[in-house]
Amino acid sequence: MATNKKPGKWRKRTQAVRGGQVRTPFQETCEPLIFTAGYAYEAAEEAEARFKGESPGYQYTRLSNPTVSMFEERMALLEGAPAARATATGMAAVTAVFLAGLKTGDHVVSANALFGSCRYVMENVLPRFGITTSFVNGSDLDAWQAAIKPTTRLLFLETPSNPTLQIIDIAAVAKIADKAGARLVVDNAFASPALQRPMEFGAHIVVHSSTKFIDGQGRAMGGVILCKQDFLDENLHQFLRNTGPTISPFNAWLHLKSLETLELRMKQHSENALHVADFLAGQKKVARVLYPFRPDHPQHNLAKAQMDGGGGVVTFEVEGGKPAAFKLANALGLIDISNNLGDSKSLLTHPETTTHQKLTPEARAEAGITSGLLRLSVGLEDTDDLCEDLEQALKVA
Ligand SMILES: *Cc1c(COP(=O)(O)O)cnc(C)c1O
Repeated sequence: MATNKKPGKWRKRTQAVRGGQVRTPFQETCEPLIFTAGYAYEAAEEAEARFKGESPGYQYTRLSNPTVSMFEERMALLEGAPAARATATGMAAVTAVFLAGLKTGDHVVSANALFGSCRYVMENVLPRFGITTSFVNGSDLDAWQAAIKPTTRLLFLETPSNPTLQIIDIAAVAKIADKAGARLVVDNAFASPALQRPMEFGAHIVVHSSTKFIDGQGRAMGGVILCKQDFLDENLHQFLRNTGPTISPFNAWLHLKSLETLELRMKQHSENALHVADFLAGQKKVARVLYPFRPDHPQHNLAKAQMDGGGGVVTFEVEGGKPAAFKLANALGLIDISNNLGDSKSLLTHPETTTHQKLTPEARAEAGITSGLLRLSVGLEDTDDLCEDLEQALKVA
């Protein structure tokens, strides 16, 4: 296969369109979808050399695949990361980082406002291997420092967080990790590399659910791990090859091609979300609106400092708790009720009864998830249509 033209010299927007592209002898302009489980060798000697690692090339798609490699390379260029590995889902990425990076006796410190499944892994899976986690309020830097133990190896956070859109100071937590000789892992699913690049602020590892804004059209599952060369070589590389949380080449191809429009889409998602957030803030049945780029967001200045846009998610609270939230959701005529997010279609979810249902009431309270809280993933529709839909649904609530 032919290599790309002059990689490395281009700016981010060009990398999003061309970074990592490899052409077959057909010289296709579109990145090829190499859909195969295995690869053939010219001779037995060639197979032997490849298994010894003495000859470059592919052996088996669980280990690597040209289309998957292109997606990984482009993601690394956009995040400014030395290395990237794609996985079947975002949760496969998160779980692989924990299981590859930790051993019995190790300790994790995590922000308490988290995607439900991330919290499940820390509370229910890791303890079975003798790995414990302390949860802290992510905005409280003293709490991060106080939770550090001699055995702390990983710090984990999500910013903006799901669903309360808490913003955490990546640079400050990265410093605490450095001092402790631990690694900071940032879940960057809500912002995507178009709006936030945690490694620029000192994060050691970044994880993504590419199912969300990277796919952007609600089609295919995927995840990405971005890290430094030492973590890849010492922890991740052999773990992934042998345990097999491999992404389908087809899904990797969809997500690779989606990166070409990511920045354009994230700009429009952010513009639409800010418009809808401002609209909701003016409605009398809405008690509270959370959006990182609104001046009334508790960490507005921090959001402006570490993000290039507020993102596509708006969280708000209706007066009247669960009954009012359900009435509003059921009255929507355009926006769909769905627990997914990051789609070009606007989607509304009630976190208490869906994505965060399995948390204990205490954990939900800690994460700020009340009965009237609704999370709206603002899509790419006309905002006049979205606001009209919300206005008529609020009348019913
Ligand atoms: C969706 C999501 C995940 C999990 O990703 P999947 O692709 O669904 O496995 C993890 N973290 C955040 C913040 C998410 O939104």
